[in-house]
Amino acid sequence: MPKVYNWQLGREMLYPYEERHPRRQFAFVFNINRCIGCQTCTMACKSTWTFSRGQEYMWWNNVESKPYGGYPHFWDAKLLAMLEQANPAGQVWNVSGANGIRSQYGVFEGKTIFEAVSEEQNEEGETFQETAGRVLGYLPSDDEWDAPNIYEDTARRPEKLHRRWGGEGASLPAHQSWFFHLQRICNHCTYPGCLAACPRQAIYKRPEDGVVLIDQQRCRGYRKCVEGCPYKKSMYRGTTRTSEKCIACYPRLEGKDDFLTPDGVPIETRCMAACVGKIRMQGLVKIARDGSWERDPDNPLYYMVKEEKVALPLYPQFGTEPNGYYIPPRWVPMDYLIQMFGPGAEHAVEAYVCPSRRMLGLLQLFRVAQKIIARFKLIEGKKVGESEVALPSGKKKTLEIFNDTVVGYDTKGRQVVQLTVEEPVFERPKEHYNSI
Ligand code: SF4
Ligand code: SF4
Repeated sequence: MPKVYNWQLGREMLYPYEERHPRRQFAFVFNINRCIGCQTCTMACKSTWTFSRGQEYMWWNNVESKPYGGYPHFWDAKLLAMLEQANPAGQVWNVSGANGIRSQYGVFEGKTIFEAVSEEQNEEGETFQETAGRVLGYLPSDDEWDAPNIYEDTARRPEKLHRRWGGEGASLPAHQSWFFHLQRICNHCTYPGCLAACPRQAIYKRPEDGVVLIDQQRCRGYRKCVEGCPYKKSMYRGTTRTSEKCIACYPRLEGKDDFLTPDGVPIETRCMAACVGKIRMQGLVKIARDGSWERDPDNPLYYMVKEEKVALPLYPQFGTEPNGYYIPPRWVPMDYLIQMFGPGAEHAVEAYVCPSRRMLGLLQLFRVAQKIIARFKLIEGKKVGESEVALPSGKKKTLEIFNDTVVGYDTKGRQVVQLTVEEPVFERPKEHYNSI
């Protein structure tokens, strides 16, 4: 059974295929703090890729309200419970093992979805490859694919809704009123659960950009990928009897389409480009032969994930090394955030509420242009203010604000955008027809 290195877990792990990496990887950062739950991203994707017959319940992009919302219902609570059952009280992190880029969050000492299933099967004397079930997962029922925005904007689970949709679902301890929107697309994982589970080898990861695709000719609709994706982002289409998933809008990502990308540079996916709240930033990161991210501190994604450590993977303990990263919401209890984003959560919230000058500049670049920003630069300006901010630990820190200028460049090194931290004020001339 091959072993691969998962830097998000800080250790090697079992995976059914040999380790191999793309030259560049599609990746993204979502700033949860800014999302208004408007679902514009959801509809942008729906109207582009999944408007046909048989795709009615397909939402390659969805935005759910945590802690109760989820699509399919309670997908994460269910899998967390299965992992806990497979490894009681063992799903823990050893944060003292944090050591540079190969284990930046510490070492996960629990079992991934690949390990939790393999151990069970080894007891029965079967080898990992011979068994059909290579990944711990489950197939959601039709009811669970119902109502994609169930519990939207609810801090507490409304009993009326609960009765309407039936089922007990997850039961969580009563909590103070808080909720947040969680934006979700396929993570184009480094070690995809969908790919590992597919008995037809119909799923592949592109070497040029790490995008994970399902070959529609090879797929026979066994739905093992639906079962094996821990994020439930592979979906079955009854009319074609095949599974489908997010394709990272690859015609936009490639930058080769004369109509879509006449400048020859990649542009953001539909869900990113439509984001009203300006919470999304997408890009491509360079991958070294050993799977680590090549040092590239001027790349916005590298900077946020590796230098500032302000953006974290979603449920890294599942073991797929997802390539979607989140700036966690600052108002949510830390225990919940650590369960969802791993032990880096407290540092990430601190780095967001009291950002460095470079980080504050970079936050201005979210969703300001269609073109993917491959590199950014800060030009220092004057100090314009300061304020005291409370960190998650309860400590106070002084945040100094400078009116720096931030410049973004495309993949060909051409300037795409230039902005200042302080928004300039323009007074409209009195003769404007809307003047009062
Ligand atoms: S999120 Fe799911 S569907 Fe997407 S690559 Fe990962 S395992 Fe596959
Ligand atoms: S478009 Fe942006 S702000 Fe609106 S729901 Fe989607 S991610 Fe959130």
